Amino acid sequence: MKPYPLLFKPSLKKRIWGGSKIKEIFGYPGPCENIGEAWVVSDHPEGKSIIINGEFSGESLGVLLEKCPEWFANINLEKFPLLVKVLDANDNLSIQVHPDDQYAMRNENGASGKAECWYVIDSEPGAEIIFGHNAKNRSEFIQLSKENKWDQLLAPVPARAGDFFFIPSGTVHAMGKGILLLEVQQNSDITYRIYDYERKGLNGEKRDLHFEKAIEVIDFQSTGYKPKPYTVEEDFAITTLVSCNYFTVERWLIKSTHDLKLFKVFLLIFIVNGSGELIYNDGSILLTKGTSIMIPANMGECRIVGKIEAIISYI
Ligand code: ZN
Repeated sequence: MKPYPLLFKPSLKKRIWGGSKIKEIFGYPGPCENIGEAWVVSDHPEGKSIIINGEFSGESLGVLLEKCPEWFANINLEKFPLLVKVLDANDNLSIQVHPDDQYAMRNENGASGKAECWYVIDSEPGAEIIFGHNAKNRSEFIQLSKENKWDQLLAPVPARAGDFFFIPSGTVHAMGKGILLLEVQQNSDITYRIYDYERKGLNGEKRDLHFEKAIEVIDFQSTGYKPKPYTVEEDFAITTLVSCNYFTVERWLIKSTHDLKLFKVFLLIFIVNGSGELIYNDGSILLTKGTSIMIPANMGECRIVGKIEAIISYI
């Protein structure tokens, strides 16, 4: 079957901390209130994105993976490895940590761990994220949290549009109020909640905490290490934001045209700003803010035309 660039229908998620920006800015179809997340490229059982163009219209990524391995360079992928989401925090998110692959494999029925990264699309003045903690060791972490000294324990950093944060498993983190961001992560939904501001969930109950598991996976070695958010330079057309074992994420600033050269497995493109067109052998696709596209491995050369800021991810 002839490969073509795939478009997806995002899967929208209501969250207690969700807002209205995802609908306002990107115009995705679906419910309107408290939308915290749009899973824009996902083959996770909790929210599969559905292909909306071409021969595979109506199918999920998993089906494509099974039917057309050559679209993924015939490498042996058990499941689609990445999950790309837009998150809109109208309130602070719970303080959390994710396990690594080994811990998740042993304790979460063979699931994957979760490394993730954030590209800030928009933020209100003074917006912050929690990125790491100030405890010297495990017992100090437990002590400070028992005493509810969260201000002393947690490490906030400012977050502005264009900032990028890599969050390896084991990193205590939380997205703060007033931030809209794109998240690229391993295909996993395992989160250990450490603190939730004593809030009640949509059903009126406090949400579960997973303090015991969190304590087992938090990285205490990196105590005192305060990574600075990496602010990208305007001058560069292509900036590598992170390249780790699980994913590579780049930011592309296209001023008029960009030819897509050879790549290994697949390319995910998310349009953050601007508009244009993706031109390929058999046609073209309109690109606007919020468009999410997957280019298969065997697609051949294609070209993006327009003035565009995009986040690109691949393995
Ligand atoms: Zn997270």
